[in-house]
Amino acid sequence: MKEDFDRELGSADEIARNRYLDILHQFTLRQSSLTKLEDIVWNIAKTAIAELGFEDCVVYLLADEGLMLKQVAAHGPKNPVDREIFNEITIPVGQGIVGYVAQTGEVQRIDDARLDPRYIEDDNFRLSELAVPISHDGRIIGVLDSEHHAAKFFTDEDVRLFTTIASLASTRIDTALAMDRLEKTVEHLEEARQALEIQTEELREARLAAEAASVAKTNFLANMSHEIRTPMTAIVGFADLLANGVKDPEQQEQWRSQLTENARYLKDLIGNVLDMSAVEAGEMSLRFESINLLSTVTAAVENLRVRAERKNVGLETVLSGALPDAIITDSLKFREIIVNLLSNAIKYTERGAITVTLSAKNLGAKAILSVEVLDTGIGIDSVQMDNLFLPFSRVHDTHHRAGIEGTGLGLALSRQIAGALEGDIAVASTLGKGSKFTLTLPVEISAHTHWSEHHQANPFAVGPSKLSTKPSVPGTKELLGLRVLVCEDSASVATLLEVVLNAAGAIITQCVNGLEGLRCFEEQNALGTPPDLVLMDMQMPIMDGYEATGHIKAVRPDIPVVALTAFALADDIDRCLAAGCDYYLTKPIQIGTFTEELRLIRERLDA
Ligand code: ADP
Repeated sequence: MKEDFDRELGSADEIARNRYLDILHQFTLRQSSLTKLEDIVWNIAKTAIAELGFEDCVVYLLADEGLMLKQVAAHGPKNPVDREIFNEITIPVGQGIVGYVAQTGEVQRIDDARLDPRYIEDDNFRLSELAVPISHDGRIIGVLDSEHHAAKFFTDEDVRLFTTIASLASTRIDTALAMDRLEKTVEHLEEARQALEIQTEELREARLAAEAASVAKTNFLANMSHEIRTPMTAIVGFADLLANGVKDPEQQEQWRSQLTENARYLKDLIGNVLDMSAVEAGEMSLRFESINLLSTVTAAVENLRVRAERKNVGLETVLSGALPDAIITDSLKFREIIVNLLSNAIKYTERGAITVTLSAKNLGAKAILSVEVLDTGIGIDSVQMDNLFLPFSRVHDTHHRAGIEGTGLGLALSRQIAGALEGDIAVASTLGKGSKFTLTLPVEISAHTHWSEHHQANPFAVGPSKLSTKPSVPGTKELLGLRVLVCEDSASVATLLEVVLNAAGAIITQCVNGLEGLRCFEEQNALGTPPDLVLMDMQMPIMDGYEATGHIKAVRPDIPVVALTAFALADDIDRCLAAGCDYYLTKPIQIGTFTEELRLIRERLDA
């Protein structure tokens, strides 16, 4: 009987031990597959309730550098939803029962919370509480806590189980915490790397922008130097010639008009630069007035006709449909845009024709004007299209626009002006075929304005302008008999050189670009009458002076080539000499000393 009783007792112990082992075994099994902190702590909370029969379970972990306890999992009547903590609280270490366990590492079993002043009541007073520390490597990293409404609820076995669960889970929790910290560090590092990448890209863009601005500025200075010196050569030269006195009134008139034309060009150029700085400073002022549409466009087109004729390029104006007689706009600015578009069309067209088409849409009190400038010129690469309207940008490489005057301001300014007048400029172009620039401008029209149809195709055409061929001034003949090959594309400067060299007794041949110059040279050389000296403008269309000089020097290194350069910066001079030029003269040339300088060169040659 006693034996039976002992066996039964033994089996009750065994059952208890088996239950104990079973719970821990199951818990260890479940935990073994978990690596994420969230999974681990929620599994502890759920195990406490499901396996240990607790009413609730909260997992606290130390936070804020070990000063606070933060709830990371909470399960029970107050927290029925998985992975959701209702009214999450933090407890300062040292406060309440949980805070005490975190501070001391001692297990606390409270049988009647009413008797424990440390008990902090929240929504409901619960009489029993069991709190055990979670320690790893001798450090407390958190607390497991459970409360029960009944007094004296937690048994010794509960204490042992809860403590064992806490210590079994501690390594996993610590590893997960370390992984979390590592992941956060990696995240921060990744964020820092991305920020660094963005910063590097921004720096690269800023550097590229600064470099582009610097290149644009250098190009602008070089272009301005050229742009100013070329007309200055003509102005100073013709002024000198006129000052020396000339009897022939026709000759006098021609020099005077050359001087005026170049002075006007210079004035326009400086005006453009000043306008651009005013625009960039936001100071463009507009003056609206009623103007005659046709006569304004006529004046703009006719002013440029002579330039087109010089290049043998046709210029046609087409009036399409009905047009208002008068419009209200800023006439100077309106004209400026047309002049810019048309002078570009002439500059960048070597053959064919340019057509200016004027049309208007009648909207009652308003009209939408359209001025289309179509050319058969060099065209524009589609990639370069976006850069066209940037200030100081010249989109063609120097080879394609050698000798073509320009600062890269015209289009930028024109678009700014069009925008200020609430209009726009559109462009369509095919490289090598031509371009079409269209100005669209909304304008007011007064109530009495007539709309008239115009049918003539080219209402403004006039005959080709006349250029005299052999001007002469009395001279000292210091270059008598010297054969000079002159390559110069600027008509004004070419005329000036012709006058001065003829007066000094030189025998000159004139060419308008490097290729023509090279052909002349080869012809004369083959005939045994090569030039004694070549005067070479360096910036010319089709073939520039650098290339032409190279070819000439390859055949006849003994014939001196004198560079005439409007680029007066040190680099440009080095470039001239590197191209094979023997001497250089910078524009504007002083005609008083010019022939003297050539005479000295001749003397050196004869010696
Ligand atoms: P630029 O003084 O150089 O002519 P713009 O601002 O007027 O300056 O024009 C900018 C650039 O656009 C020019 O340098 C040229 O490369 C290109 N361009 C302008 N108009 C034309 C055109 N009609 N045909 C071809 N290229 C053009």
